[in-house]
Amino acid sequence: MGNASKRALYPGTFDPVTLGHLDLIRRGCDLFGKLAVAVAENASKDPVFTAEERVGMLRAETKGLPVEVDSFRGLVVDYCRRRGYGVILRGLRTVSDFEFEFQMALTNRALAGDVETVFVMAHEKYAYLSSRLIKEVLASGGDVGGFLTPGVARALRDRLEEMERSAGGTRPPSKT
Ligand code: ADP
Repeated sequence: MGNASKRALYPGTFDPVTLGHLDLIRRGCDLFGKLAVAVAENASKDPVFTAEERVGMLRAETKGLPVEVDSFRGLVVDYCRRRGYGVILRGLRTVSDFEFEFQMALTNRALAGDVETVFVMAHEKYAYLSSRLIKEVLASGGDVGGFLTPGVARALRDRLEEMERSAGGTRPPSKT
């Protein structure tokens, strides 16, 4: 029998949160009534923002939505069990996302058969958006206004400039 009251978790790196993530969060809220969002702390991705900063940005950008934001270390399925989440929500943008997500969902199922992964297709407006590409565009002086909220765009521009300065770079400050 189905269980419509399963609580859902949307985990990710969110370095930083993009308009694509926010669209998925909104749709997750519609599907599940409310949504937990969790920043993975131990991402092997060398993030630009600390987990606390990523949590802070997500909280600011989801104000007014039935969303709780937190961070976690270790396996997402362990976090789900500790907190009682029965659903992992993930987004699919491309066929290459599918490959990786399929592998991860099956691994998570092998680890925790009681936690179901649910996929939502990216909105076509945001299907090409990734935090990684946005950072590259901004670092090269491109305009990321259509990809991020103004607050996140500002924070990212400031952080990339800081990193550039401390690395002794000579690139001029980028514009948004
Ligand atoms: P991770 O390192 O866990 O992949 P990300 O922050 O890159 O973390 O992505 C978290 C989830 O959000 C993933 O399921 C990813 O496919 C999805 N996602 C990322 N960008 C978008 C987007 N533009 N539209 C829809 N889903 C997205």
